[in-house]
Formats: sequence, C-alpha cells, structure tokens
Amino acid sequence: MAFKNTSQRSWWEKESMSFTRDLIVVGSGITGLSTALFWKRRHPQARILVLDRGFWPTGATGRNAGFACFGSAGELVDDLVHESEESVKDRLRLRLEGLDLLRNELGDEHIGYAMTGGYEIFDTTDDPHYRESIAQMPRFSKWVEEITGVPNSYESRTVNGYPSIFNGLEGYLNSGMLMQRLLQKVSEAGVEVRWNTPVSEVMAQKVTLSDGLELAADRVLLATNGYSSTLHGETAVQPARGYAFVTKPLKKLPWHGSCHYNRGYVYFRDLGDRLLIGGARDVDKPTETSIENEINPRIRQWLIDFVSNQLNVDHNWEIDTEWTGVMGFGATKTPECRKTSDGVYLAAGLGGMGVAIGMKLAQNMVQLLDEEQGG
Ligand SMILES: Cc1cc2nc3c(=O)[nH]c(=O)nc-3n(C[C@H](O)[C@H](O)[C@H](O)COP(=O)(O)OP(=O)(O)OC[C@H]3O[C@@H](n4cnc5c(N)ncnc54)[C@H](O)[C@@H]3O)c2cc1C
Repeated sequence: MAFKNTSQRSWWEKESMSFTRDLIVVGSGITGLSTALFWKRRHPQARILVLDRGFWPTGATGRNAGFACFGSAGELVDDLVHESEESVKDRLRLRLEGLDLLRNELGDEHIGYAMTGGYEIFDTTDDPHYRESIAQMPRFSKWVEEITGVPNSYESRTVNGYPSIFNGLEGYLNSGMLMQRLLQKVSEAGVEVRWNTPVSEVMAQKVTLSDGLELAADRVLLATNGYSSTLHGETAVQPARGYAFVTKPLKKLPWHGSCHYNRGYVYFRDLGDRLLIGGARDVDKPTETSIENEINPRIRQWLIDFVSNQLNVDHNWEIDTEWTGVMGFGATKTPECRKTSDGVYLAAGLGGMGVAIGMKLAQNMVQLLDEEQGG
C-alpha cells in the first residue's frame, strides 16, 4: 500500500519541521541551486528549501555536454534572421557575463573549465551559410570586443580538412564537477535540499508533494526548466529532449575543443581520449518534445553515421555511455524570469545555453524577489 501523507501533524512535527519557509525552490539544476545560493547570501536568516524529484539533480544540468559557449558565428547569423541586432547582442552579453560569473563563483579548477577555443565546421566553402557567417565575422568580433575587450575573436581556419570559424574564447567544462561544486556551496551556505521529493502541485505560498504532504512558503520558485509545463499551465516553455554519447577511448581523435556543426544542432568535443557528441534533434524534432529519457533510434543512427563518415576517428570506435536529457525552450530564446498571475515565480527556458546563462538567470530572479520584497 502506498504511503500517503495527510495534513495531520504531531505536536513535534508542527513545532520543529513544518514551519513556513521564506522560499521553496522546485528543481535543483543550475538555476534552482544558484538562486537558492544567491538569495541565502543576501538574506542569511532566510529559511530556504530546495526540492528535487531525483536522488540527485535529474534535469539537463547533469546531462548536458558541458560546452561553455556563447555563440558561434553561424548561430548568430541564424538568430539575426528572427531577432533584432539589439536582442542578439544582449544575449551574447548575457552568455559572456554568465560564463564569467560561473567561473568566478565556482572556480575553474573545481569545474574542470578549459578555454580550449571552439570550431564551427562547414561541409564546403560553397555553403551560403558559411559565406554569410564569414562575411559577418568582423561584425561579431566587434560585439565580443565591446563586451570582453578581446579583438578579432572569430577567425577563419581549416580544421581536419573542413572550412571552419574558430573562436579562441570558447571552452568547455566538466558538468559533474560543476554540480558537485554547486551542491557543496549550497549546503555550506545552509540551504536545505531534499531529494526524491517529486512535487505534484505548486500554488502561491504552497507546494504539494506527490505523497500528499503540503509545505508552506512565503514564495515558491519553479526552476524546473523543461518540466515546467507539467506543474504550471502559464508558461510557454516546452520540453525539448537532447541526446548525447561518449565513446570508448580512441587512438585517433583529431578534434580538440568545443566543436559545432549544422547551425549548432550537432556538437562534439574531446573528453580525454574519448569523443563526446550530441544533438541532431532536428532529425526528428516532433518526437523530441517528450520528457521521457528514451533514446530516439533515428537520431542515434544519424550521429553514429556522422562520427563514422565525417570525424575521421578510429574506424572501429564504440559507444561507451549514452543518455538523454530534457531542455526547455520558450517562445523566444530569452528565458522566462517572472512572477506568474497566481503568485508563483518562474525561471525557465534556458534552451541549449544553460551552462552559460543559468547563474545569470538566478541573479536576475534574486533581484526580482528582492524588488517584490522591497529589499
Ligand atoms: C543532451 C544535452 C546537452 C546539453 N549541452 C549543453 C551545453 O553543452 N552547454 C549548455 O550551456 N547547455 C547545454 N544543455 C542545456 C543545459 O543543460 C540546460 O539549459 C540547463 O542545465 C538548464 O538548467 P536548469 O537548472 O534550468 O534545469 P534542469 O537542470 O533541467 O533542472 C530542473 C530540475 O527540476 C527537477 N524537477 C522537474 N520536475 C520536478 C517535480 N515535479 N518535482 C521536483 N523536481 C522536479 C528535475 O529533476 C531537475 O533536477 C544541454 C542539454 C542537454 C539535454
């Protein structure tokens, strides 16, 4: 028989366990944990509780590829088709500042960060997208220089026979180390984190767990990214599943750094003497709106063929570990950071950029919470 909590409380539970929290955060990914950390820092007396349904964070933060990237030239060219120059530049700034914040907060050595540089590769110089990206390079380099002070960051190069655009400021990190470091900081700061605690309902000032237990809080923040629509109807953020795998060790791995292909849909990097590759969601986008961690055989096969036919690694390479994770994509590439009409706060919709913008989004959320509190 399944255990069901009720609203019945013992004297002791009532007195010492079920007090009203100042803030309950649902979701222990980079967004939820960073918000809890920054809020606690500003309000040391605040009682903050982070809830996650998994035994550890089971969203995209621990399932990504670890690219600490801010935008390939091809991605920026694509963005300019849909958005104004101002919003594309704003996001570039957000990503660059977000990466700085992440590195300063957690420390490069604790998150395995390396500024390796990154290549965006193209099949041929005749590709109109390549030509447009090359033509726009000076403009994008100028934007990056305005933000970082580093000139000419985008350069045309050939890598392993592919025409490419290199940016020396791109890099990657170890997502497992990032999670561990962030959890360590959160626990040292005195934030309470509860695992294996699926939430079934959120309302202003109240969170209901799947076992029926109700918890009270002055504020409730949903930091559930791709899962947000399962808990709140008032969000445009929808799930978008991503797939990745790591190969067994390779003798021949001619790639170093964070590499992109096909407008950023495909991404790959070295991981010691292994290759980590993921993406290709565009091969079957309609199926990849699921929140189930299942592997799509079409996408898997596409990536296998890409590695075998285009990346020039050992011919008998094998997959070691493969997985999926769920991202959240909103109506635009700008994440939602707001209070909903029923008083719940929402920070979600980080797309494929959460490593870079997760902490910045958390900072913005803390500012919003403070403004609302008159702090
Ligand atoms: C395969 C893949 C590769 C990626 N590669 C990169 C990359 O290289 N670089 C990059 O910048 N970004 C990448 N991303 C995107 C990035 O990982 C995300 O943008 C980022 O991790 C989002 O962080 P978050 O904290 O907002 O959400 P998440 O990390 O998804 O956290 C949400 C949390 O909410 C919890 N939760 C959900 N529902 C409930 C519930 N009902 N009750 C309790 N808890 C709940 C989940 O368990 C989860 O821990 C990738 C994503 C994937 C899937």
